Amino acid sequence: MNIDPRVGLIGDAEATGSSLLESLATTKIVIRIARKCEVFGSVRLAASRALDLLARLFDNVSIEIEGDTIASWVKQENLRAGMIRERAVRVPVRTLIVGIGEVDADVHVGMTGWSVLVSRAGAPMVGEGLIAGCLAGPIIAAEAFKSVFRETLRTAVFKNYSFNALNYATDPTIDAPIKDLVLDTILIGCGSIGFGFIDALRSLPLVVHGSLTLVDNGAIEKKNVFKYSHVLSADAISGRDKVDVLAGWLVSAHTDLAVERRPYVVKDVTDIIAATAVIAPDNLSARREGQEMLSKDVVNAAIAGTNVDIASLRFGKTGCIYCYYNDSPGDSIKYPSIAALTGKSIDWVERAYIDNRPLTREDTTAISREAYFAGADLSEFVGQPLRSLMQRPFYSQTQIALPGEKPVPVSTAFVSAFAGALALVETIKLAVPELEPYRLAQRMGWDLMGTFKSSFVLEEPRRPSCAICTSRVRLEVHAERWAS
Ligand SMILES: [Zn+2]
Repeated sequence: MNIDPRVGLIGDAEATGSSLLESLATTKIVIRIARKCEVFGSVRLAASRALDLLARLFDNVSIEIEGDTIASWVKQENLRAGMIRERAVRVPVRTLIVGIGEVDADVHVGMTGWSVLVSRAGAPMVGEGLIAGCLAGPIIAAEAFKSVFRETLRTAVFKNYSFNALNYATDPTIDAPIKDLVLDTILIGCGSIGFGFIDALRSLPLVVHGSLTLVDNGAIEKKNVFKYSHVLSADAISGRDKVDVLAGWLVSAHTDLAVERRPYVVKDVTDIIAATAVIAPDNLSARREGQEMLSKDVVNAAIAGTNVDIASLRFGKTGCIYCYYNDSPGDSIKYPSIAALTGKSIDWVERAYIDNRPLTREDTTAISREAYFAGADLSEFVGQPLRSLMQRPFYSQTQIALPGEKPVPVSTAFVSAFAGALALVETIKLAVPELEPYRLAQRMGWDLMGTFKSSFVLEEPRRPSCAICTSRVRLEVHAERWAS
């Protein structure tokens, strides 16, 4: 059994996804930049991030500036490390072109200030803007992915749109320049979203001061090379701690920032007091524990499939993680699809999730007979909750079904990279006093297979009976700690 980590992260991808793997090998994606746009730092940042994110999935990705071609090194590195194997190409190569500036292209992406613009008609505006460059990278990757799998992504939407991450409206001319940034931040969870956050931070040529604490007890695994932005196969093979890899990146980019590494679970770092807690672990209980640290503000970042969910919360002003995520809506909407994938009833899945019940050997044996898992060895999940098993398919993945074939999950690193970059955008708004009026009102959700809708900001009422954010003790500690 030869499992390609890019597709079907559980199961035998060679058996169920061979046409898809061939399609990844025979699709060429070119990010074509007009020569006059090359001068913009925003464009160079966007193109290099898109190149890196797309190369996590596709074999042939390059940047082209009037005849000069820069190819991605990701495939060569993964081949050398034995992470993937060279595939014989049997079908003609097809090419998709993403254009920046006035060039021939299938889809155009523009950027300026804090805004990203997408058009299939003409070339939208291109200007300077580091936040825009940071967000445009994952957007270019998402639009390219959507276009390549146009026929098979039934829910994908192909419309022109623009969005401004400063005020989450559509007018790209509203801008707010920033020069330097003082962080007092703790990042809880250094998985795919955490990597997206740090990758965005290190790519901004800002002077960054202050302190950042990284919390995660995990090490880089082989599959992370395909799901995270910028992970090297050497780090996956040697199994380096995630916090060590991220601290190394940051220290090389921002020498004025004090970076602390805490390779532990959240429960073991409650001594830290930071103004902003960026919460991005892979489970709800760690999110709740992160909130209990009573930071001044909480930026919660989550993904499910190709959906991005960001919230900016403050005790006494907005609801909290318990209010908005108490019933785990992200979980409950997945119950029917989890039931279909595992061959279990919806009731069984619901109980397994709510009770966090460990899987038995009988459960994993039965689940491994289902088509989706294609005879995978699930013995490592005996005694683990169903949630842990399903996190693999649901994290940074979407399902692709080529004509006449079963759906196969593929890794979509651009989703978590986008969530991480948006979490950084909200953190910057809290760290730079003049930007605080622009902070996200509570919560937003965006499916990257769709387009930007200005209504995506969710103004949910806080739960009046919430025992956490109406707790007098917490409110008093919070108010005392953060009184200015
Ligand atoms: Zn609450």
